[in-house]
Amino acid sequence: MNTEQALQPAATHANPPRLTGTHPDCQVLIVGAGPTGLVLATELLGRGVRTRIVDKGDGVALESRAIGIHARTLEVLDMMGLADRFTERGQVVRYLRFYSQAQCLASLEFALCGSRFGFLLDLPQDETQRLLRARLAELGGVIEQRAELVGLASGSDAVTATVRTPGGHTETITAGYVVGCDGAHSRVRHELGLSFDGHPYPQDWLLADVLIDSDLAENAAHAFFRPDGLPVIFFPMRGHRWRLTLPFAGARSEGPPRWRRSSGSPTSGHRGRSSCPIPPGWRTSAAIAAQPTPTAEAGCCWPGTQSTSTLRPAARA
Ligand SMILES: Cc1cc2nc3c(=O)[nH]c(=O)nc-3n(C[C@H](O)[C@H](O)[C@H](O)COP(=O)(O)OP(=O)(O)OC[C@H]3O[C@@H](n4cnc5c(N)ncnc54)[C@H](O)[C@@H]3O)c2cc1C
Repeated sequence: MNTEQALQPAATHANPPRLTGTHPDCQVLIVGAGPTGLVLATELLGRGVRTRIVDKGDGVALESRAIGIHARTLEVLDMMGLADRFTERGQVVRYLRFYSQAQCLASLEFALCGSRFGFLLDLPQDETQRLLRARLAELGGVIEQRAELVGLASGSDAVTATVRTPGGHTETITAGYVVGCDGAHSRVRHELGLSFDGHPYPQDWLLADVLIDSDLAENAAHAFFRPDGLPVIFFPMRGHRWRLTLPFAGARSEGPPRWRRSSGSPTSGHRGRSSCPIPPGWRTSAAIAAQPTPTAEAGCCWPGTQSTSTLRPAARA
């Protein structure tokens, strides 16, 4: 692909930032088209910055992954002109309710948070990424898929990135700046020699997307405390879909998590007519780690994914 055509700035925006010295292929190269890279790319394109975005994957990840969008993020999406699109697609969650032994102990109301978006918006991450990709396309952006960053070399006023392309060839891209939005195992961070300190929590979390036909209110998230003190949290998605989360689920066992009905359900007192995992068998156990990345830039390269937590899926079914 012609580098000048990869991500063209929107014609309506004037006065893009100027770079001195050489004329690189693009002003900014973004590595990674997850939520972080997509937001950055749309923001740069919207300001007329010549931006290119590469991603080693095939397209949008199919797992629902992160689903809860909080008020501040909705405010930022609103500034990007995208809040309406998100709220049209997502499930508005107005309350967070806590239960023990079928009694509701407390109900927190998100409207009290002070934002005009007084709710949590549940939207699976794959849909979030589709909405961001659609916006990117409107701005003339093209994501270069199956293009993997494999090397970086910093010059005085430009960075040369080596990218492995779908045919197995390598290509070099010169950019004024390179931003690593390439996730928990960032190659950019590795190339910069930056540490990813911290440690994983000892316990795993269990996640599952299920269809439940029940009388649970779908404008609330519900946390049911079990006799052992651990909560099972139900986050509503649309169409009777729920994300079940069991934090601190203990040590991981070999193999994928299994699905079985249980007697003495912590949700007893609420009528559950039927449940099944969707898409068939999407469930995972995940290890979470608190791992800050140093924010210092290294020349013209930044680690863009400033993760304070990562989820490392251990086993899927
Ligand atoms: C199973 C699972 C469940 C999760 N559940 C939750 C949740 O419930 N709540 C929550 O808040 N978060 C959750 N997360 C975490 C959430 O998905 C991440 O925080 C989020 O995806 C981070 O976005 P990102 O854009 O920074 O990175 P990513 O989404 O990881 O995107 C990085 C992108 O970079 C690309 N890439 C990587 N290396 C290269 C390279 N060398 N060259 C080119 N491209 C590259 C990848 O293909 C990918 O598209 C979950 C994650 C997983 C895996």
